Formats: sequence, C-alpha cells, structure tokens
Amino acid sequence: MTAALDFLASKPGLLIGGEFAAAQDGRTFDTINPSTGQVLSTVPRAGQADVDSAVRAARAAFDPGSPWRRTSPAERGRLLHRIGDLILEHAEELATLEALDSGKVITVARSSDVVLAANMFHYMAGWATKVEGSTIPFSMSAPDEHLAYTEMEPVGVVAGIIPWNFPLVMASWKVAPALATGCAVILKPAEETPLSALRLGQLVTEAGLPPGVVNVLTGYGHEAGAALAEHPGVNKVAFTGSTEVGKRVLGAARGNLKRVTLELGGKSPNIVFDDADLDIAIPFAAQGIFFHQGQCCNAGSRLFVHRKVFDEVVAGIAEIAAGYRIGDALDEESTMGPLVSAGHLERVLGYLESGQSEGATAVTGGDRGAGPGYFLEPTILTGTTPEMKVVREEIFGPVVAAIPFDDPDELVTAANNTPYGLAAGIFTRDLAKAHRTARALQAGTVWINTYGAFDAAIPFGGFKESGWGREMGRAVLDNYLETKSVVIRLAP
Ligand code: NAP
Ligand code: MG
Repeated sequence: MTAALDFLASKPGLLIGGEFAAAQDGRTFDTINPSTGQVLSTVPRAGQADVDSAVRAARAAFDPGSPWRRTSPAERGRLLHRIGDLILEHAEELATLEALDSGKVITVARSSDVVLAANMFHYMAGWATKVEGSTIPFSMSAPDEHLAYTEMEPVGVVAGIIPWNFPLVMASWKVAPALATGCAVILKPAEETPLSALRLGQLVTEAGLPPGVVNVLTGYGHEAGAALAEHPGVNKVAFTGSTEVGKRVLGAARGNLKRVTLELGGKSPNIVFDDADLDIAIPFAAQGIFFHQGQCCNAGSRLFVHRKVFDEVVAGIAEIAAGYRIGDALDEESTMGPLVSAGHLERVLGYLESGQSEGATAVTGGDRGAGPGYFLEPTILTGTTPEMKVVREEIFGPVVAAIPFDDPDELVTAANNTPYGLAAGIFTRDLAKAHRTARALQAGTVWINTYGAFDAAIPFGGFKESGWGREMGRAVLDNYLETKSVVIRLAP
C-alpha cells in the first residue's frame, strides 16, 4: 500500500524517449477511484505535440544502428525476462494500483492480473530467440540455380491502445510481443486507468531498455489515441477496445496503410447441456459472467441452458450471485468491486431498464449497490428474446441473459447469431458432443468444462466483428513482423 501511495504522490509523468515529463502544454486530467468516486491522482494529458515527440523517440530507437537494433535476440529475451521479474517483485504495488484505479478487487488483481502480465513477459522472452525465417525450394528454374529464403523483420513503431478492464494485462499483451520481435512501442492506456501503465513504464526503464523503445502516453482517446492511430510515423496499431472505436481506428490507419490488429467486443455464448456436471458448470457459468463485474471482453453473457436443467442452473447461479460481497476493491473481503465509472454504471443500468421494459425478468440483482462507489448487483435476466438489446449488444457489466434450449442444432444457430465471435463455453460430459459443438461455434476461443482460462501461450482473439489477429501464443508474433523474401541467383 505504501509503495502505491508513494507512486500516486510522485505525480508520474509521460514516458517519452526515456524521460518522464509533463504534457508539453501542461494539461492534466484526474483519475478516479471507482470504489469511492474520489480523485486518486492527476496525470498528464498527452496532446498532438507529445504524440509527435513519442513517435520521434520511438523512430530514433528503431533506427538502424540504434542500441535497440544492435541488441541481440538473446539480450532482448533477457530484458523481457527482467521486466517479468520486476512485475512480480512489485506485485503488491501493481495490484494495489490496479484495485484503486480500476475497481478490480485486490485479491483478483494480485492472483490474476499481476501474474498474467508477468507470465506474458516471461513467455515472450523465450520467443525473442526463436523468430525464424525459412529456406524455400525454388521451382521456376533448375533447383540448383537459385537460393530463396525469408527473413522476419520487426514491423517498426507500434502504437498499443488499450482499454480499462485489464490495464496491466492489456499493456503486457501489447508491449511484450513488440519487444520480443524488436519493435519500438508507444502505449496509450485508457483514460479511466492510466496508473499501472505509467508504473510499468518506470519498471521497463529500470530493466534497462534503451530510451525510446517503450513510451507511455496517458491521455484521451479522441486526442492522443486518435493522433497515434493516424500518425504517419507509426507502422502498426494494436488496438483493444470496443468494436465501434476499433472501426474508427481502422479508418484513421488508412492514411499510411499501417498494420492494424483489433481485439474488440464480444457477446459470448456459454452453453450448459443437460448431461453437464452441474457442480462444475454452475460456478464457471457464474464466474464466466460475474468475474470483474462482467467487464470482460470474453464474458459469457448469453447463457444457453438445456431446458431440463434450466431452473436448477439459474437457481445455482442466483445463489452464487447473492453470495458476492460487493465492496471497496481494496478490501480483502470484497469479492465484487464497482464498475469502472459513473458513466459506465449508467450505461449498464440503461441496459437493465431496456431489458425489463421489453419483458425480461431480473431473477436476482438489478439494483445499484450501496455507497458512493459505482456498484451494481450481479443480475440474471430470464424471459429474453433474440431481438432484445440485452441479448444482441455487449453490456460489459455483471448481467447475464439465461436462455433455455431444447435442440442442439438450433442451439448452435442461436449461439452463432451475433456479429461477435470472441469466445464460447461448453459444459457436457460427452466428449464427442463437446468437440462437435466446439467446431460449430464461431469463436476465437472455446472453453470446455471451464471458462476464462488464459495462458500467454494460447492465442486469443476474435472471429467476425470481435477483431483481427490474435494476441499471445506464437500467433501474435505475425502481427509484429514483416516477411522479407530474398532470392539469389546461384547459376553463373
Ligand atoms: P474503448 O472506448 O473502445 O477504448 C479503448 C481505447 O481506445 C482507450 O484507450 C480509449 O481512450 C481509446 N480511444 C477512444 N477513442 C479513440 C479514437 N478515436 N482513436 C484512438 N483511440 C481511441 O473501449 P473501453 O470502453 O475502454 O473498453 C471496453 C471495450 O473493450 C469492450 O467493448 C470490450 O469488449 C473491449 N475489450 C476487448 C478485449 C479483447 O481482447 N478482445 C479486451 C478487453 C476489452 P479513452 O479511454 O480515453 O477513451
Ligand atoms: Mg481510475
């Protein structure tokens, strides 16, 4: 706690070219503690001039002949490892900052977020030495007349634009693969949660990265975010956030045809068959939607339950919902914190109102929690129809639509009836049914008899309007690399 408070009191600056500084025009903005509604700290509000400086610094860091370009892959791996270690060494401070700034309960920030972020750096450390091209047989002449091979080159300067729900984890998902592949990166955290990214910038500097390789700009999406997305000096944008803003980023990237990857929203189906082990299915279905107050892109927000077990599953989840201890994210006893902001709480309440006015019923929850913070009771809606907004749109709160089904084929059609395709869950004891259903679902990740199990080694990303590209695993490297084909004539 003391370390986190010291950090807050230090009024951390933007990280540009290895220096910590205020915004050039001196502007700042407040970041709020959603558990109390109080101002936590004031951070720099980066504008166009700061974005230009950060891009210049990143370009210089990426220049051929720069210290970073002369850093061997093995040394890059060691630096990544060091950053992962530093995250673990400062686990308590980072978890506290995350709880204060985002409303994530401290026990989860400690056991999940900090661990996942360190895991990403440690995992990516191993890839730094394993980015390989290939030699390719040439068939347009006699085989011995040409030699052809590919080299994989870093894409260049990357802008990582991230949301507020997993600030530190999202930062690690952008920064770690950029460093593993030898890119330079400019990170723009969400305005609601700037603190852990600023602290990560300090740790990255402490690890010994050359100046300008990682830059951190706190600010607003329509200012710093938009300026990065359209900047001609940026080679790639890695964006995580809403589908709506993702499409805007794509438009802004057109100017220099920068590479774009998008991790966007979801309306993920979680499916409980009648042969499922309900002692497993019920707690995972509850966790699948209520984890971090439902503010997860992969939240299992449409719960399809076989009619035979529907009442039992809904009752089981309602019991779990009633058992959450809603309270200040810093309180060790809290198992559910606040939503991230007053505005977001209003948005989620609006969905509840809309669902109920269209005929859905809140079996449990549906009301604001007590206190000045932005608390909301976990809510189960039944009696929904496929046309309702609460079934079609991402709510991003602790609200699940529980939907009974009878026929497995109709179930798959209903589960895929969404523009999204991020994740899905299946609960059954029948292995063949599990695999068949996993194949039929349009989703980037399918969990079977579990939900929300993440690992830095496993690719994550969306089908359809849930995005472009994959984060994590071997797959993420492709997003940060250009392939260069080299063909040599050997014949005299
Ligand atoms: P958001 O409003 O789309 O914001 C995401 C980031 O983009 C923020 O840093 C935001 O800055 C910035 N931004 C806003 N307008 C911009 C613009 N015109 N140009 C460039 N950047 C801009 O999303 P959010 O509300 O923070 O996060 C919730 C959403 O993220 C949900 O839809 C969720 O599904 C999605 N998400 C997806 C994943 C995934 O892996 N697929 C993971 C987490 C979250 P400001 O904060 O200043 O607005
Ligand atoms: Mg905040």
